[in-house]
Amino acid sequence: MLSQLIKKQYENSMRYMTVNEKIKEMMMTPMKEIHETIQFKNEKIECYRVQYNNILGPYKGGLRFNLCVDLDECRALSFWMMIKCALHKLPFGGGKGGICIDPNLYSKEELKQICELFVEKIHNHIGHNIDIPAPDVGSTSEMMRWMNEKYMDIKQIKQLGNFTGKPVDYGGSKFREDATGYGVYVCVREWMLLNKMKYGTYIIQGFGNVGSYTAQYLNDHLNLIAVGDHTGYYYNSEGFNIFELISLSRMYGSIKDLKHAKKITKEQFFSIKCDIIIPAALEMQVDDKIAKNLNCKVVIEAANGPLTMEADEILESRKIQVIPDVLVNGGGVVVSYYEWLQNKINVRWNTKSIKQKLDLHMTEVFHYIMSHELYNKRIVAYMIAIRHVESKYNENIKSKL
Ligand code: NAD
Repeated sequence: MLSQLIKKQYENSMRYMTVNEKIKEMMMTPMKEIHETIQFKNEKIECYRVQYNNILGPYKGGLRFNLCVDLDECRALSFWMMIKCALHKLPFGGGKGGICIDPNLYSKEELKQICELFVEKIHNHIGHNIDIPAPDVGSTSEMMRWMNEKYMDIKQIKQLGNFTGKPVDYGGSKFREDATGYGVYVCVREWMLLNKMKYGTYIIQGFGNVGSYTAQYLNDHLNLIAVGDHTGYYYNSEGFNIFELISLSRMYGSIKDLKHAKKITKEQFFSIKCDIIIPAALEMQVDDKIAKNLNCKVVIEAANGPLTMEADEILESRKIQVIPDVLVNGGGVVVSYYEWLQNKINVRWNTKSIKQKLDLHMTEVFHYIMSHELYNKRIVAYMIAIRHVESKYNENIKSKL
């Protein structure tokens, strides 16, 4: 269960710091959990939104369209969003939601109707100053547009910042689509610099939004020798042509039937000798068995929660460094914040300036975490984030006195 994973991660960080009881309680309990059912044709579709806490600002986090979505998953993902926003010093709290469907089984028109029905159910809990959803696994910028339009229609307001990750021609930010992958790239680049590595090999699990942009930006720095997604895993010791992979995955939604590569199992994939492993798919992909066989120097977590707790412990004992998700995939929410700001003040920043801002931001947070003497960088990230939430909480209390 993901809730157990976040509890253990949180308890681990508490071994290195003390915080007051109120903060402790708030860290382990979401403020609100919404569970609704949508009636769509003859189907009942479960949907969720968990709002973890809003000490730093409005709740913020993605909406996942996936058959595995449940309350436990949304709870964990919203906790990670709270930690991530605090670590990156964004004025947002954590949120996450999901709609329990396989989006590939519906037409565009049906997906639009499902998005609108979802907004009808939750419109009183969201909004640009309350809770701002964004895309996540299985959801797209177009869906954010449909939902924002429905929201504005219900509320009779004109405000684009109720959702982020929208299409660029509809109030979306330039570079949002690349942002998470670009942030992963910055972390890899800076890790290589710290470790005096000029060129090397890597493998990546997941070739959707995050995986494909990460690979695109890493292309001049590292050779991709294995890749996998929900349809299978492939190995090519010579390396893959990234641009062929990208066009395949964008055209068919997967890398199925990849040519010029050897088909391998998930276990074989994760035991390949390489410098860097980037999980960029889903949670809990690397368990204790897999962790014992990893043959790399570092795991850079592009997905949320890709390691089980046991795997995390095994990697620490094997001195395989883990660069944590809350740092690595933060580029997405950072540019979502830029989008929200642009919508609020009605300006449009260009790609170059957003890319520069994001690069500087990710580089700074990366080195801040890496400069801490503690080896376990997840604990360091949690400590920084929790201290930030605590100080904001104390500030809020003082200003009310
Ligand atoms: P996506 O839907 O675009 O891609 C997901 C990828 O994972 C696909 O290649 C899919 O085939 C693969 N996958 C799914 N199930 C799998 C399985 N069982 N085994 C192997 N591969 C599997 O999603 P995304 O936006 O790229 O998100 C990937 C991860 O990054 C998720 O953990 C998400 O929460 C996280 N994340 C995404 C963003 C963002 O901006 N998109 C931001 C922060 C974190």
